[in-house]
Amino acid sequence: MRALVLSDIHANIDALDAVMASAPPHDAVWNLGDIAGYGATPNAVVDQVRAMHGVVVRGNHDRVCSGLESGGNFNPIALAAARWTQTQLTPENQLWLRELAKGPVSPKEGRALCVHGSLRHEDEYLLSTQEAAQQLPALENSSPARLVFFGHTHIQGGFFAEGNQPWKTLRPQYHDHDTAEAFAVDLREGENYLINPGSIGQPRDHDWRAAFALYDADAPRVVFHRVPYDVRLAQMRIQRAGLPEKLGSRLRVGR
Ligand code: ZN
Repeated sequence: MRALVLSDIHANIDALDAVMASAPPHDAVWNLGDIAGYGATPNAVVDQVRAMHGVVVRGNHDRVCSGLESGGNFNPIALAAARWTQTQLTPENQLWLRELAKGPVSPKEGRALCVHGSLRHEDEYLLSTQEAAQQLPALENSSPARLVFFGHTHIQGGFFAEGNQPWKTLRPQYHDHDTAEAFAVDLREGENYLINPGSIGQPRDHDWRAAFALYDADAPRVVFHRVPYDVRLAQMRIQRAGLPEKLGSRLRVGR
């Protein structure tokens, strides 16, 4: 069973198209949320994600962009983008976003869990080994899963630990920042893993390329991927939509 793991597309159809064009063969698609918000093509992205018929958990931007929440805790740029997105989404796409499942969601196959933020809270950011360690009780309660896919931080990689041992950071190692690259991690028996496939539409790990992962449950193995895409086109769309300029400029620097 091979699952394509996608997260934080953020209404960037140019990045999503590049990912789907280069995605290895897979049996399922797991989407970790933040499908809408920030980017200029929310309907094109939602249409494409709906057509994948995969497992989807909602993100914080999906809740605000669909009007489920007001976004009172959003910064001004995120809020401006969410309000613009609300005016653009078709009623069908808005309703689809509103009804997305809150994580954790357990796909039928693959012995893994999908969340947007963390096992403890859908809006929690997992940025450090300390925060990863705090997930252990929830991880142990969610047996047999020893593998959680999360998003929200827009940083590809994650954390791993054996039993009660200290957690370690996992970061894919790449050689250049301009071509498509992959980095494989074999999952070892007895280890717990919190894995972030990275953000497709707005990476924040200083790498502008769209990020995703492929999980092979039989190996078992996670392969991280980065693919270049037409950033200038995505930036032009953001500019034309009248969205805040920073939402375009940040894409090229990946932060
Ligand atoms: Zn996000």
